[in-house]
Amino acid sequence: MRRAIYPGSFDPVTLGHLDIIKRAAAIFDELIVCVSVNSAKPSGLFSPQERVELIQAVTEDLPNVRTDCSQELVAEYAKRNRARVLVKGLRAVSDYESEIQMAMLNAKLYPKLDTVFLYTRPKYAFLSSTVVKELARYGADLSDFVPRQIIDRVRAKVAGGERISHTKKER
Ligand code: ADP
Repeated sequence: MRRAIYPGSFDPVTLGHLDIIKRAAAIFDELIVCVSVNSAKPSGLFSPQERVELIQAVTEDLPNVRTDCSQELVAEYAKRNRARVLVKGLRAVSDYESEIQMAMLNAKLYPKLDTVFLYTRPKYAFLSSTVVKELARYGADLSDFVPRQIIDRVRAKVAGGERISHTKKER
């Protein structure tokens, strides 16, 4: 059985991520989407558990996709879950440098592990979780950026966060 892991922050999951998830799920027998809590991005808008729930909500119809969360090194997580492939999405040349370095590091840590890169669909090449959060803060229409099932939750979270930071209660 070919099991692959798609690790990332997914804060929140976007249509770009979902496109990679669907394409990877069509290639591998099982795909584990792993919310990876790393030291470079320690906190985020959504808690790791909430990010998992959002991914689950948008992958319900994909029977070979499972969602998990981990604080371990991705290579350790892959080894423990007997997966030999990591899936990564590549948006631009700027992604390439850090991703290739990460792929080599992961192979050093777990030599049986390989990284497979899927290119982004051009229509999602500009899209990142950061862009989504910024647009949500300005109240922009999110329907071209995040799966429709989670639009309201993203809006509510951003509005809630801003209310807390301004210590102002509306509604
Ligand atoms: P970001 O916070 O930049 O969205 P993540 O850490 O959540 O990044 O991304 C996880 C993985 O998904 C990475 O391999 C990243 O390159 C990939 N990815 C992110 N956005 C896209 C997109 N729009 N299209 C294709 N791949 C993407």
